[in-house]
Amino acid sequence: MAGLYIHIPFCKKACHYCDFHFTQSVGQIDAMVDAIADELVMQSDFLGRDTVYTVYFGGGTPSLLEGPHLKKLMRIIQHEYALSSNPEITIEANPDDLDKEKLSTFFDHGVNRLSIGVQSFNDDQLKWMNRQHSSSQAMDTFYLARQMGFENISLDLIYALPSENHDNWLRDLKMITTLRPEHISSYCLTIEPQTAFGNWLKKGKIKAIDEDFAADQFEILLEIMSKYGYEQYEISNFAQPGYESQHNSAYWKDEKYLGIGPSAHSYNGKFRKANVANNAKYLKGIEEGEIPFEVITLSLEDQVNEYILTSLRTKWGCDLSLLKAKYEVDLLAEQEHYLNKLAGKGLIFEDEGFLVLTDQGKLLADKIASDLFIESD
Ligand code: SF4
Repeated sequence: MAGLYIHIPFCKKACHYCDFHFTQSVGQIDAMVDAIADELVMQSDFLGRDTVYTVYFGGGTPSLLEGPHLKKLMRIIQHEYALSSNPEITIEANPDDLDKEKLSTFFDHGVNRLSIGVQSFNDDQLKWMNRQHSSSQAMDTFYLARQMGFENISLDLIYALPSENHDNWLRDLKMITTLRPEHISSYCLTIEPQTAFGNWLKKGKIKAIDEDFAADQFEILLEIMSKYGYEQYEISNFAQPGYESQHNSAYWKDEKYLGIGPSAHSYNGKFRKANVANNAKYLKGIEEGEIPFEVITLSLEDQVNEYILTSLRTKWGCDLSLLKAKYEVDLLAEQEHYLNKLAGKGLIFEDEGFLVLTDQGKLLADKIASDLFIESD
């Protein structure tokens, strides 16, 4: 089982919180799609011919892709990879890029899941984050996508913005539950150093995120999601039954994936690698027949700890037999005392060989995971 990720490194505007890899030189998109197409062919053996169950166009802004771009990439994927008969094909989209024609192009090329970056339904907050769209545009886009036949739509929201208050947050949640997308991702704002917000924080123009305020907003989120029938299958991800993101779930379950395009990461069960996060270097490398990447060497401890951290954030939990078989780590024996203590407090439980956090435990997921980390001898 494997997934394919394709990074489209362009955005029309830079959102003030974002530190993903992208440039605003959208004029290079044709050359980039050609290079990505070449890399898809060059990397076709990386997954060892495993069946590809998911294709995910992320970015940047993949909704900038036009019909001929998608046609070219999908043809190569179908030709060079063992694509399953019913793959999940997702495209991340900004509301301002989606019109009838664009949606119909996506549909015609097999895209069956849209992940729309709404972030907020409050126009002042959207402006403050430097988003390109308005709240009404996001709603219109959602209804249009429905009308065009998309039956699997995910919407993103950000919480704990410095200008946020609980009334605003409740209004955002009310709007999103009224739309009833199949999937909702909701992330706490993080202020990264290399962003406009990071710069503002340094200059004292904004305050750091208040952790208690963020925790309160998270609890409101959990309450509303549960009330409206969305299951929290990962700390920041909620789905109606049967609509979990298959692509992201595979990352959290330690499965193989191939990332194509600048800054994309890959993992084939043996090693990880990261393509260069620079469009010019990427284009030059591909033109010369060499994919510019570096191998990421993870120690055994890094691999185990990364797995503990990501798996405990999910509803499936941490697979104890996988830890034993793959890394020779008997977490239950090594952490017996601490795990018993957590279980006694109702924070964790064991279910058929998986360690799973309770709802209360999920509020402390990162702390619990780091307490369970293994150390080198
Ligand atoms: S949030 Fe999305 S649209 Fe905004 S800059 Fe980042 S990648 Fe681009």
